[in-house]
Amino acid sequence: MQLADRVQSLTPSSTLAITAKAKALKAEGHDVIGLGAGEPDFNTPSFILEAAKRAMDEGKTKYTPAGGIPELKNAITAKLKRDQELTYTNEQIIVTTGAKHALFTLFQVLLNEGDEVIVPAPYWVSYPEQIKLAQGKPVIVTADESNDFKVTPEQLKQSITPKTKAVIINSPSNPTGMMYSKEELEAIGQVCLENDVLIVSDEIYEKLIYTDENHVSIAQISEELYDQTVIINGVSKSHSMTGWRIGFAAGNKTIIKAMSNMASHSTSNPTSVAQYAALAAYTATEEKVDEMKRAFKERLDVLYSLLVEIPGVECAKPSGAFYLFPNVKKAVETCGYEDVDSWVKALLDEEKVALVPGSGFGSPDNVRLSYATSLDQLEEAAKRIKDFVQKHQ
Ligand code: PLP
Repeated sequence: MQLADRVQSLTPSSTLAITAKAKALKAEGHDVIGLGAGEPDFNTPSFILEAAKRAMDEGKTKYTPAGGIPELKNAITAKLKRDQELTYTNEQIIVTTGAKHALFTLFQVLLNEGDEVIVPAPYWVSYPEQIKLAQGKPVIVTADESNDFKVTPEQLKQSITPKTKAVIINSPSNPTGMMYSKEELEAIGQVCLENDVLIVSDEIYEKLIYTDENHVSIAQISEELYDQTVIINGVSKSHSMTGWRIGFAAGNKTIIKAMSNMASHSTSNPTSVAQYAALAAYTATEEKVDEMKRAFKERLDVLYSLLVEIPGVECAKPSGAFYLFPNVKKAVETCGYEDVDSWVKALLDEEKVALVPGSGFGSPDNVRLSYATSLDQLEEAAKRIKDFVQKHQ
């Protein structure tokens, strides 16, 4: 049977592909260290589990409004007030099946065929695919590694055409862990305002920042930028709740209403019990979030210092998220491999360490390492990568 054109051009997720291969090797009995995962390794905090159990016992297991229960919307508006000093009404919020589906639905309601969305590279793997699924055109703008992988206002200006509808800003970023400063966001925002380009601000890693920089949402900068921005966020990374599938979008009422209509015909509501779990997450203190953050920071420091000692591996220290995105071009060359993809494959075959090649993120000289695993595993992984590079020199 001939499948629809829209799926023919889909690129499978490189993150999931490497994780699947690592799992298969593990199942064969190999001692594999997987640094491919995009999810925290901690359990969901127990008070959140309790809230979900309570919701089940109380029979909160039926359909809810497609855009989410009002209590959770209230908690999200309170969170945005508390953390970003931004005021939203419930009509400006939609609760979605993970942040991923907030983005998917947003592109569906925003784009007509051929509309362009600027995607700074390195990018999270799903952005271009979701834009294409909405018949839009991802316009990839490659940010310079020397500028910490951040796009400049000039680059942005040069990529805008009459068809440009939106730009994605993901800070802190997956895969680079880099973060835009307030001044940088101000300058980017100015270009977007001048050209009437909507800003999609993916803030899913907001709570995982390891420097003393504060997270700034571009929507905080001015009234005009508040109007011009849709914030995407959720509990997956902040509360180690990836499997619960709760995210949200906050923005212009008309956009949010269209997204809710769309959700009512696709997912209906996100899982009722998961919404009550997220409600507990957003109404509690952030003790558990901070605990996980401290563990991530320790791992980042350890892995970073081991990684930069490896010949041919160059890495800027990221500010947030839980990834390192080193440039391994020199190591690949000295090891005699044609490209990073084949180097990564050989590393998995020979040393049983799974990394994700940067090509899937639009950055073919880099690899992504996730440090969402134990310190012991990270130390062992760094040792194996070093051995691999030395063996092949
Ligand atoms: N945005 C970015 C940058 C991500 O890295 C991810 C998850 O990997 C998401 C969005 C999606 O998050 P969720 O699991 O809530 O769908």
